Amino acid sequence: MVSIIGAGPAGSYSGFNLAKKYDVKIYEEDKEIGKPVQCTGIITNNLPREIYSEDYILNKIPEAEIIAPNHKSLFINLRNKNLVLDRSKFDCFIADKARERGVKIITNEKLIRLKDHELIFKNLRVKDEFIIGADGPFSRVARDSGLFNKRKFIAAKQVRLKGKFNEDLVKFYLGIGTFSWVVPENNKIARVGIASNKNLNIEFKKILKLEGGKIINKQGGIIPIYNPLSRISKDNIFLVGDAATQIKTTTFGGIIPGLIAAREFSKGFKNYEFRVNQKLKKELILNSRMRKRLDRLNDKGYNELVELFSQEKLKKVMESYDRDFPSRFVVRLLLKEPRLLKFIS
Ligand SMILES: Cc1cc2nc3c(=O)[nH]c(=O)nc-3n(C[C@H](O)[C@H](O)[C@H](O)COP(=O)(O)OP(=O)(O)OC[C@H]3O[C@@H](n4cnc5c(N)ncnc54)[C@H](O)[C@@H]3O)c2cc1C
Repeated sequence: MVSIIGAGPAGSYSGFNLAKKYDVKIYEEDKEIGKPVQCTGIITNNLPREIYSEDYILNKIPEAEIIAPNHKSLFINLRNKNLVLDRSKFDCFIADKARERGVKIITNEKLIRLKDHELIFKNLRVKDEFIIGADGPFSRVARDSGLFNKRKFIAAKQVRLKGKFNEDLVKFYLGIGTFSWVVPENNKIARVGIASNKNLNIEFKKILKLEGGKIINKQGGIIPIYNPLSRISKDNIFLVGDAATQIKTTTFGGIIPGLIAAREFSKGFKNYEFRVNQKLKKELILNSRMRKRLDRLNDKGYNELVELFSQEKLKKVMESYDRDFPSRFVVRLLLKEPRLLKFIS
């Protein structure tokens, strides 16, 4: 028997992958899967085929604009259109796929404590051989199994804005917060967000001022920072998704890395950590290194970066790869423009 804690995308997709071999139960603290939404929901088109559906896709975006503090922009055609998800429908879709394979999902059941493979919930106690923590950034499973480590977090908030937007363009502002974005659902509504541990509200007001529009609703949350030194398994306890800090720290996207890790459960538990590290570690470390460099830049540095990337030879490289796998293009970029070394190495 396998117990998975958390019915987010990483938990449900882990269950889906394990259900062929094991009897799987997923325990979710919320009453409804996929709610509340605490995510912008933009991803590259690297979704596993078996959980792909048009049903939860609100928009497909072909172009990105990266805006420097001096308001100069770099436009990049996205090799594969980026997908904007209805996050709630997305989570429900994966959960249903897991159920179709026989996974039982128990909602409204919060894990309070894990001790010696015994899971203590609000209303029941269960002892299981295999336990998966897919319970988000503050993972109780990670805490109680000694896998939490000294992890760091970044705060994020977003609003849905009603206004006038180009539905074919996702915008990223450099130099406002640590990272900030405008993701259109359509030409009338956009999700405008920011991640920052410094002056979050003040920085957020800057983008809201630039974008205009009327706030429809507000959401917020915490994103874990990838820690390459942390273990993600111990004594048949495994972590996946945000619980395992599987986040790209350049853009703070976690959906695709979490699903890549969850897919490894299709090969069972043996060597899970090793296999996930082979798939993700190099990419996530590269992301962290780039983030460290970017965090040191001032406005002048960001302006210079956008200027450099505006060269046709670099744009071409950027347009040929997805951002999920930077190791595939970073060296090519450096070979074409050695001055980038100070920004991305
Ligand atoms: C404002 C914001 C915007 C973001 N935008 C993007 C984006 O555009 N693209 C992207 O790729 N990523 C984005 N992210 C990150 C993304 O949301 C996460 O990486 C992703 O949700 C991780 O999926 P998960 O399944 O690991 O965890 P989660 O989606 O957090 O799911 C964990 C589940 O576990 C449940 N749970 C937690 N504790 C317990 C417990 N003790 N007992 C039982 N159940 C429990 C929770 O209720 C939840 O359902 C954003 C994050 C934030 C905060």
